[in-house]
Amino acid sequence: MNAFYSDTFVLPLPEHHRFPMAKYRLVRERLIAEAVLLPEDLHIPEPVDWNDLRVVHDAAYVEAVANGTLPADMQRRIGFPWSPMMVERSRRSVGATLAAARDVVGAPAAGTRRMAPSVAANLAGGTHHAFRDRGEGFCVFNDVAVAASVLLRDGAIARAAVVDCDVHQGNGTAAIFRDEPAVFTFSLHGEKNFPFRKEVSDLDVTFADGAGDDEYLTALAAHLPGVLDTHRPDVVFYLAGADPYEGDRLGRLGLTIDGLRSRDRFVFDACRARGIPIVVTMSGGYAPDVNAIVTIHCNTIREAVRVLGAECCVPGAVPSATVPGAVPSAAVPGAVPSAAAPGAVPSAATHHAACTQPPAPCTAPCTAPGT
Ligand SMILES: [Zn+2]
Repeated sequence: MNAFYSDTFVLPLPEHHRFPMAKYRLVRERLIAEAVLLPEDLHIPEPVDWNDLRVVHDAAYVEAVANGTLPADMQRRIGFPWSPMMVERSRRSVGATLAAARDVVGAPAAGTRRMAPSVAANLAGGTHHAFRDRGEGFCVFNDVAVAASVLLRDGAIARAAVVDCDVHQGNGTAAIFRDEPAVFTFSLHGEKNFPFRKEVSDLDVTFADGAGDDEYLTALAAHLPGVLDTHRPDVVFYLAGADPYEGDRLGRLGLTIDGLRSRDRFVFDACRARGIPIVVTMSGGYAPDVNAIVTIHCNTIREAVRVLGAECCVPGAVPSATVPGAVPSAAVPGAVPSAAAPGAVPSAATHHAACTQPPAPCTAPCTAPGT
């Protein structure tokens, strides 16, 4: 799968700043070290075009960010000091989500390989507290809102859904799409947590302080299938925040690392079972133990790769990288792993090189034509 990163654009922060800037590089390095992704899966995105940013953000806000002329209180709400690198990194991160989105809907960025495009990732992003005219909570521009809006503008999709599992409400995203029926906003978040003035998403599911795996996963399972079946998005933007973790400094919930991985698996499986491409972004994560954050984010990518790996056991599905010009298997409506060969290990020729785990046992009846 293709993953886009911008951690080489490091914005200068004061010592002891609470934003864990290093986590992004550590996530990328561990994904490579543990062969979850291959070096050729990783790409530095182009910075998002200024005009594309203005599809969502007010021109005056974009200009003030670009020039470093935001009023001091607006810059403080963002939480980062202004620097040219803050601007560059913010544009690259939006560019990463847009590149991942184009990849999964069938318009991959130049130089990227075309795999069966059911999932692609931004190894940062999920900056959901950015509004049209301002940023806050370490969010300058709203990457998911820009990517979804650009795809809609370009006619690449007709509908999108945002599945926001960061522990904080996706307030900026909710506000941006309040009057946009083509984008369904679904946020699961802590009731008592930041932002303290919540916006109204199309669906908000809230949790009391201390809620754990069972409560969270039950709520996710109760609502996500209905969102996907009712809205029928052409693409899902998944914000896989690491901050519902019990060890998070800002999260106030009680999910375990295993529980968060189950969350990821449920989201990916629910989308895949319906043939919906997924763009995954990392979003927040503030545990004092940066290793825990990195593990949670890497698990998300592991599960994403597992979704692609499962493509391998669809009879006849060959990763398109091995067949130039092949139609991606995600284009087969309803294609799911075949029940005819439960647990079958695909041949090397049909197994995605980056899929380091055995394909998931086939649990759903195959509805693909002819199988
Ligand atoms: Zn968060």
